Amino acid sequence: MHESLLSRRAGGRATLHCMADAATVATDAAQRAALVGALRRVLPPDALLHRTEDLKPYECDGLFCYRQLPLAVVLPRTADEAAAVLRVCDELSVPVVARGAGTGLSGGALPVAGGVVLGLARLDRVIEVDAADRCARVEPGVTNLAISRAAAPHGLFYAPDPSSQIACTIGGNVAENAGGLHCIKYGLTTHNLLKLDVLTIDGERLTLGADALDAAGYDLLALMTGSEGLLGVVVEATVKLVPKPERVRVLLAAFASVDAAAAAVASVIAAGIVPAGLEMMDNPSIRAVEAYVQCGYPVDAEAVLLCELDGIDEEVADDSARVEAILAAAGATAIRLADAAAERTALWSGRKAAFPALGRMAPDYYCIDGSIPRGRLPDVLRGIAELSREFGLPVANVFHAGDGNLHPIILYDSGAPGEQQRTEHLGTAILALCVESGGSVTGEHGVGIEKLDAMCVQFDAPEIETFHAIKRAFYPDGLLNPGKAIPTLRRCAEFGRMHVHRGQLPFPHLERF
Ligand SMILES: Cc1cc2nc3c(=O)[nH]c(=O)nc-3n(C[C@H](O)[C@H](O)[C@H](O)COP(=O)(O)OP(=O)(O)OC[C@H]3O[C@@H](n4cnc5c(N)ncnc54)[C@H](O)[C@@H]3O)c2cc1C
Repeated sequence: MHESLLSRRAGGRATLHCMADAATVATDAAQRAALVGALRRVLPPDALLHRTEDLKPYECDGLFCYRQLPLAVVLPRTADEAAAVLRVCDELSVPVVARGAGTGLSGGALPVAGGVVLGLARLDRVIEVDAADRCARVEPGVTNLAISRAAAPHGLFYAPDPSSQIACTIGGNVAENAGGLHCIKYGLTTHNLLKLDVLTIDGERLTLGADALDAAGYDLLALMTGSEGLLGVVVEATVKLVPKPERVRVLLAAFASVDAAAAAVASVIAAGIVPAGLEMMDNPSIRAVEAYVQCGYPVDAEAVLLCELDGIDEEVADDSARVEAILAAAGATAIRLADAAAERTALWSGRKAAFPALGRMAPDYYCIDGSIPRGRLPDVLRGIAELSREFGLPVANVFHAGDGNLHPIILYDSGAPGEQQRTEHLGTAILALCVESGGSVTGEHGVGIEKLDAMCVQFDAPEIETFHAIKRAFYPDGLLNPGKAIPTLRRCAEFGRMHVHRGQLPFPHLERF
């Protein structure tokens, strides 16, 4: 499976062939001048960047290995300015890529050559916290953490909490349907939204959802969530807030094998307990983290589980006793309890610092994001270990175990001949394993440009064509974030990974390479 991907990805990185279906691109000097002139007429001078040195910071997101300078970057302060930019781009047929904080890990905010990056970070007001209705109205550039900070005086918080929450924006969270430590109990971004205001490419403002819990018509709010900036630009979000729990306890359990820890996760879920967080780290991650933040993890353990329980006093005490019994029965060699806020923060600090900690262990790391049914954890982790040996590259695992959302982290050296390529093969082999195990090629980081080929592994041609049809229903011109999230059928055919359904090769008229 991964051999065919190898040749595809190897040839693709430098030229960004994934943009093959991009809309018409304005490349010549006259078009550039026309665009910059038109944008100048609708924006204050400090909201428009077009010199190469000013564009550089926007050439990539968290997936650094893909870079592309845009023609211009615009940084509006209001939704009206953003709408005016979209109207200009629509008129001139210039592609637009929305951008929040640029922390995305799948290349979603990577600029399109000849296109405009629409940075939303200056729209950063918390407009209102409504304690009575337990919701907040916020602009798209507000950081995830800032919402909880604004809600804290009311005893409330915004539950989805990506590890990047200090920097990432709610607009980016909506576009990626972001998850986090607490999503096992409180749901992903999509479960915590009431209403969105989005701009269409022609600058119209649509309101999707309602202040009430349900809205009439098709569920366009759900469709917009996770649409990776392809269907509209979020300019306002009304998010749900939840009461801060009366009591919180964190359990740290050490295990002598990854298998035992993975089986313990399945047992906790099967017992009907709903933890507020259930995370797992293997030995390489534990050692990296302990060396980095010294948070007291047992470095000799092959794996640790971090389990957070929250609720009223009695509920936490009862669940805690049950979880402890399950972990012990599953072979935990040690269990630590943390009740005080400082102790809990210390335990979570290790988990939250895992990516930078692992970043110190090798010149480069590549974070994979796949999801699987939770019951398959032991098998899939064994499979990942086998693939790691087969490819000769170390893989550390630190992930949202309770959600079945894996983040295998491949440690490598992009300077070593062939290692970047081998890393990408290994990443795709891991995602293919997730799909074979009944899971998906992304749990929370999105498809962007990174997983376009993997989408061909997961979806049949009719499904991919349905995705395209939805995109066309919004904008036939496809000027919003073109080339991202949904592969073309031709790409899948070329890649040779299109599913053969009931013996029928889809789109037989397409040339195969
Ligand atoms: C250290 C680290 C840890 C991370 N941990 C997690 C984690 O635990 N869980 C998780 O889910 N993710 C995680 N991420 C990934 C990333 O932070 C999330 O995907 C986040 O939602 C991206 O937000 P952003 O504001 O940076 O968006 P960007 O990267 O700027 O954009 C992401 C996508 O959203 C689109 N977009 C941005 N703003 C808008 C808008 N207003 N309207 C329409 N489309 C828009 C962009 O076009 C792009 O497709 C992590 C990243 C890092 C670097």
